Amino acid sequence: MDRHPLGAFIIVDKDVDRRLEAVGALSIPTAHILAPPENQRDPRAVLSKFDKAGVKITVVFCGFDGESYADIPTVRQTVGLVPAESREKRLDEAKKISDFAKSMNVPVTALHIGFIPEDRDSDSYKEIVATARTLSEHCASNNQNLHLETGQESVDSLISFIKDVNRPNLAVNFDPANMILYGAGEPLPALQKIGQYVKSVHCKDAVWAKQPGREWGEEVPLGEGDVNMAEFILMLKKINYQGPLTIEREISGEQQILDFEKGVQRLRQWKAAVWH
Ligand code: MG
Repeated sequence: MDRHPLGAFIIVDKDVDRRLEAVGALSIPTAHILAPPENQRDPRAVLSKFDKAGVKITVVFCGFDGESYADIPTVRQTVGLVPAESREKRLDEAKKISDFAKSMNVPVTALHIGFIPEDRDSDSYKEIVATARTLSEHCASNNQNLHLETGQESVDSLISFIKDVNRPNLAVNFDPANMILYGAGEPLPALQKIGQYVKSVHCKDAVWAKQPGREWGEEVPLGEGDVNMAEFILMLKKINYQGPLTIEREISGEQQILDFEKGVQRLRQWKAAVWH
């Protein structure tokens, strides 16, 4: 069996059929999905669509009402389980998404937890640790891992956080482009450092902002940015990564599919150069 099958990040919305068609045509066998809103969360319908396309869902991502990625300060205020005013509601929602994933036999729930507070002695830090622990335990009761997506903090902070939460099913979805987009650190040394926790990845590329961390970098087609994707794949081998190579391209429409096709061709070459 291929231990590193290609994958696609697929948003399950009204365009899901078109996306699955494109993915099926490229013989991509796996996918990460963004959970649909609760009133459209029909596990049987979703599974049958993906089964028909020959695509296995390996991770279900949480998204929450009110999140905005407009700019970095807005992410800080709105994303994940960090904003206190929405935390309880979103924690409930994340548990429901974990249950939805379980009903489709998907072994992983994932999310952007948000900007984890820097001060480990602060109450707000301790509250996020407790929240992550509660969600990890809920996922464990569903026989799942919980994966935190990288980007909003340095890997040193993320490793400390994972150790503080201290639950064996808590792991990392490593997105090298996010490290650049958020200005959170050079992706390849970061991957090497956090390697033991990396259980899923996004193959995504980006170029650095002029002022990293203050403004967004720019996401670009796979292989055209500053990640150095060939080296990224080699580093995945070095850390003994076992799992799909899931391409993410966060634009929409026809260009997304064109970039995706180009990315698949390139990724197949990098992969063949590393695992043969
Ligand atoms: Mg990502």
